[in-house]
Amino acid sequence: MSYSKYGMMKSMSPASPHEPGRAPEQSAAHGAASLPWAARVRASGLRVTKQRLAVLDALDHAPHATADQVLDRVRQSLPDITVQSVYTVLHSLTDAGLLRQLDLANSPARYETRVADNHHHAVCTECGRIEDVACAVGHAPCLTPAETHGMAIRVADVVYQGLCADCARREADAAPGTPSPRDAHQG
Ligand SMILES: [Zn+2]
Ligand SMILES: [Zn+2]
Repeated sequence: MSYSKYGMMKSMSPASPHEPGRAPEQSAAHGAASLPWAARVRASGLRVTKQRLAVLDALDHAPHATADQVLDRVRQSLPDITVQSVYTVLHSLTDAGLLRQLDLANSPARYETRVADNHHHAVCTECGRIEDVACAVGHAPCLTPAETHGMAIRVADVVYQGLCADCARREADAAPGTPSPRDAHQG
């Protein structure tokens, strides 16, 4: 684990109305997640603690959060929790398969509760927005590697990088003489 990564992401993900987790309808879309968290923690062989439940709840509401974002949220209900405890909880839940860790370029580790579907991620290189992308052909692994080097492939993890619609529009607006997509819509 690398504590040096802690907090590096701030400049890459300014608060925006598109911050993950603001859309309540998304948090209900968990496949095997009909069980309450306490039961799922217990079923995974871990002891149920209020710290673990708070971290899972935080990531349910704000997927793809970094440890410090999780800390901010968990402190609303557990004001005394330490950074160290949040890291410990994140790692134990990831090891138990209740969380998925996401390692994106130039970002501290991010976590999410959507673990079972081998989904991928699209990242805006401008504002840092992260969106889930369903597996390309609906089953894992969704990519057939040209060469497996003898490995039994279990997970395909694709990161698509590009400009989100907001950033593309902002860029078009900033370029004088270029008709923006919004103008085209209104005309
Ligand atoms: Zn963007
Ligand atoms: Zn995701």
